[in-house]
Amino acid sequence: MSRRKKNFPCGHKGYGQICHKCAQQQAEQNQKKQEKNAWESTFATDPIDLRALPKNVVLKAREIIQGLQNQKNYREFHGKRLRHDRFIISIPVTRHYRLLCRDYGNFLVPEAVISHEDYNVCKPGS
Ligand SMILES: [Zn+2]
Repeated sequence: MSRRKKNFPCGHKGYGQICHKCAQQQAEQNQKKQEKNAWESTFATDPIDLRALPKNVVLKAREIIQGLQNQKNYREFHGKRLRHDRFIISIPVTRHYRLLCRDYGNFLVPEAVISHEDYNVCKPGS
C-alpha cells in the first residue's frame, strides 16, 4: 500500500480521508468550549455574582465564602469591619479585590466582591 501525502483543501498536507491537523484543531476548540461552558456553569451555585471577576479572584472568593459558610471566623481571612459601617465586613480576596459581607449577628452574608478602586470610592472622606 502506498502512503502518499496529499494536499487537503485547507492547505495542509497529510494522509487519509480527512486532514488530521484540522481535525485536531477542531477537537481542541471543542474542548476549550466545553471547559468554558463548564466554568460558566459553576457560577450558578455562587451566592453572589462573580462572573465579571478574574478566575483567580473567583476561586479565592469561593474559598472564603465556603469558609464562612462552615462557621469560620472572618478574622481567619483577615477580615475587618468598616469604620463607617460596623455591620459590613471587608475581607481581602487578592491584593486588588475584597469581599464585602453583611453581619447579621450569628452569620455573615456575602454581598459583593469589589475591586480596590471601587472600595476606595465608597469610603467616605477619601
Ligand atoms: Zn487542514
